[in-house]
Amino acid sequence: RKFVYDFTEGNKDLKDLLGGKGANLAEMTNLGLPVPPGFTITTEACKVYLESGSEPAELRDEVSAHLAALEQRMGKRLGQSDNPLLVSVRSGAKFSMPGMMDTVLNIGLSDTSVAGLAAQAGDERFAWDSYRRLVQMFGKTVLGVDGDLFEEALEEAKQAKGATSDLGLDAADLRQLVEDFKQIVLKEAGREFPQDPREQMDLAIRAVFDSWNGERAKLYRRQERIPHDLGTAVNVCSMVFGNLGPDSGTGVAFTRDPASGQQGVYGDYLQNAQGEDVVAGIRNTVPLADLERIDKPSYDELMQIMETLETHYKDLCDIEFTIERGKLWMLQTRVGKRTAAAAFRIATQLVDQGLIDEAEALQRVNGAQLAQLMFPRFDEAASTELLGRGIAASPGAAVGKAVFDSYTAVKWSRSGEKVILIRRETNPDDLNGMIAAEGILTSRGGKTSHAAVVARGMGKTCVCGAEELEVDTKRRRLTAPGGVVVEEGDLVSIDGSTGKVYLGEVPVVPSPVVEYFEGRMHAGADDADELVQAVHRVMAYADRVRRLRVRANADNAEDAARARRFGAQGIGLCRTEHMFLGDRRELVERLILADHDDERANALDALLPLQRQDFIDLFEAMDGLPVTVRLLDPPLHEFLPDITDLSVRVALAESRKEPHENDLRLLQAVHRLHEQNPMLGLRGVRLGLVIPGLFTMQVRAIAEAAATRREQGGDPRAEIMIPLVGTVQELELVREDAEKVIAEIEARHGVELGLKLGTMIELPRAALTAGQIAEAAEFFSFGTNDLTQTVWGFSRDDVEASFFTAYLEKGIFGVSPFETIDRDGVGSLVKHAVEAGRATRPDLKLGVCGEHGGDPESVHFFHEVGLDYVSCSPFRIPVARLEAGRAAS
Ligand code: ADP
Ligand code: MG
Ligand code: MG
Repeated sequence: RKFVYDFTEGNKDLKDLLGGKGANLAEMTNLGLPVPPGFTITTEACKVYLESGSEPAELRDEVSAHLAALEQRMGKRLGQSDNPLLVSVRSGAKFSMPGMMDTVLNIGLSDTSVAGLAAQAGDERFAWDSYRRLVQMFGKTVLGVDGDLFEEALEEAKQAKGATSDLGLDAADLRQLVEDFKQIVLKEAGREFPQDPREQMDLAIRAVFDSWNGERAKLYRRQERIPHDLGTAVNVCSMVFGNLGPDSGTGVAFTRDPASGQQGVYGDYLQNAQGEDVVAGIRNTVPLADLERIDKPSYDELMQIMETLETHYKDLCDIEFTIERGKLWMLQTRVGKRTAAAAFRIATQLVDQGLIDEAEALQRVNGAQLAQLMFPRFDEAASTELLGRGIAASPGAAVGKAVFDSYTAVKWSRSGEKVILIRRETNPDDLNGMIAAEGILTSRGGKTSHAAVVARGMGKTCVCGAEELEVDTKRRRLTAPGGVVVEEGDLVSIDGSTGKVYLGEVPVVPSPVVEYFEGRMHAGADDADELVQAVHRVMAYADRVRRLRVRANADNAEDAARARRFGAQGIGLCRTEHMFLGDRRELVERLILADHDDERANALDALLPLQRQDFIDLFEAMDGLPVTVRLLDPPLHEFLPDITDLSVRVALAESRKEPHENDLRLLQAVHRLHEQNPMLGLRGVRLGLVIPGLFTMQVRAIAEAAATRREQGGDPRAEIMIPLVGTVQELELVREDAEKVIAEIEARHGVELGLKLGTMIELPRAALTAGQIAEAAEFFSFGTNDLTQTVWGFSRDDVEASFFTAYLEKGIFGVSPFETIDRDGVGSLVKHAVEAGRATRPDLKLGVCGEHGGDPESVHFFHEVGLDYVSCSPFRIPVARLEAGRAAS
């Protein structure tokens, strides 16, 4: 096995072995770009080290051989006293990861070679500046010394000199600083700063290996679901120097604007600086465009190289470079991160440039980005006062009055105020306040904190971990870094897509992308901006290739019409329980309380025309497209008054000797219907079998509505869906009754309605016996919400707020199984049911109607197992269309 690769030996496809940085350094080297020579130690070597606790035996010799070749090529040896070769040691895993070891520059400098470097460069200040950087970086990242100690010493030196930046320190000052830094190392690390260059290098390499298992890196991997056994590569790269005077410098650049996707010159440059100076904000950088004035030949070469890279990678690249006395060097490149808007625009630009095709364009965007573009946002033109920023935990733009406890949040929102709940962190006691608030802001905790998880589950805007904001819940105030204080009742605005927190009310504008989907803005019209154009085109690519159809979960004509505008190809779930609320609740009460068959029949007769009209409207809105109507599903007690309210009412009436006959009967019914586990109780098909006439009334309403629509010249395509079936016998009984009703109505109207009867698969037993159930079902719709509850034994209404944050933090799962389908557990039941169902009935129609139908990852799974459609809330339809297209291309 080979553990070390020269930059000339690798390429961009070897990210597994060489890490992202190493693979791309090799790629650039092979493209003939000016990369300082060097070599990469593989992730394999790291894995051996992590497993066995020591480097593989061959590694030392291989490193020596590559180092010798490098020294030969550069004409100097590592740390050679009169003309030292210096290198950087840089970590670089397959995925770039926070928590990995920072790069150490200038390895090879020592008390002796610093003089050699000074003599070679003819610049003493430069040599001491490089040496003090080495001791600082090595001390901090390899020896674990607190970095602030070095910063403080540097600050003191500047103050003593009256200097405003590090450039104000001369060679003697820096030489003194090296001494101070070495003392800090000795004191804090308990050892001398190593003078042997090879020892410096070996220790730095080992520190990179060790950083793979640092706490921060481990946490990040769990959250991002990056496997723990990939290991990191280590790059050893000969140094070039941006700190050699004004004709040197260092910079970062993008081949196009990562915020908008626009082509142009984007980046920052800093003269006479090294490494991270440019992003660390130690001095003011200049825009990259200024480099043209500072050093035209280097600028022109850089532009040329950026074009080469874009054409080669066929994508936006970001770049790190250094100029050493007028000579340009490339130190890093990778396909760059970008905003959601830029992703869509860049994808279509690249298609227009002929660099990628439509299928590839679909891979350059994703549903999460599209979802982000659909949230309302703060008006960019508005003037704002930024208080600080935190983690963008749950997207959206929320404005409200600051409140610092849940009680106030609930109280104020009841009186019609919009509030933002501000806490240091939230816990399950804050749930009511979170529900009442427009948005949630915390100063502690990351993407898996309670606030973040619960807010995402509720679709509520959340910024968490805004550590620079000091939250004092006792005094009900928040203090921003500038000293600005927000008191209870002051208006604040939070942006869950960027993590920014503003003082006051920032105006919110609707998303242009939603305006476009709603049909209020037309791509191709003059006012359509480029983003809408790009979204329009990418959606067309997706619709052309996707196999999955996309339906909506919609309960009324209005939602159905909106869903249709968003591209729905039918309704996959119409919940009929919503048709039993409001004024109709009274009829439902009568139904529940009925002692005799005719009382019950009366109540049902009264409900029938109401339901029928609902369906007529719905079928009209979805004319020509399938509409799956689910018969009544929830436990009946949900339609009855709250037990406490009712008891109070009865007790009061009793004491006042007022008539309370009806309330008393209701209370008895509530007691009778009370169940310990209503979700596992009398609901779904069980209701249909136990309450005579209920399901047949619903079937009658559906069939009559369909017949009416036919007579009106419409094309209704109703599908009747029975919920919570666990065995085929249940379905057969319901089916028998339903067929009688349908036949009667068809005969009366003289039409064939073509109604389909099917079932939800949402219990493990249904999935396991799907082969039998398919005998009596013309379609299956996977109810993955209930299926997830019943397969895991998790109560969806409780777990997200109680122990899910702990599970997420412990890495038991990276994302809630209610959000993204659990492929291994729930998913394998789905897969089994698909196969068994189709074996019985090859033309069985298959869909999904749980929340997962609009979740990007889950859509890919449903595509893979061969469902015919996914159904999701109207707002998620574009996301589902896009992901279905991505899954198929
Ligand atoms: P990161 O992964 O944090 O980007 P890098 O390994 O890219 O870390 O190093 C950070 C910076 O250090 C680079 O952008 C570059 O400016 C500087 N650097 C790294 N290696 C060298 C080198 N061999 N010569 C000069 N500068 C270097
Ligand atoms: Mg870098
Ligand atoms: Mg269900």
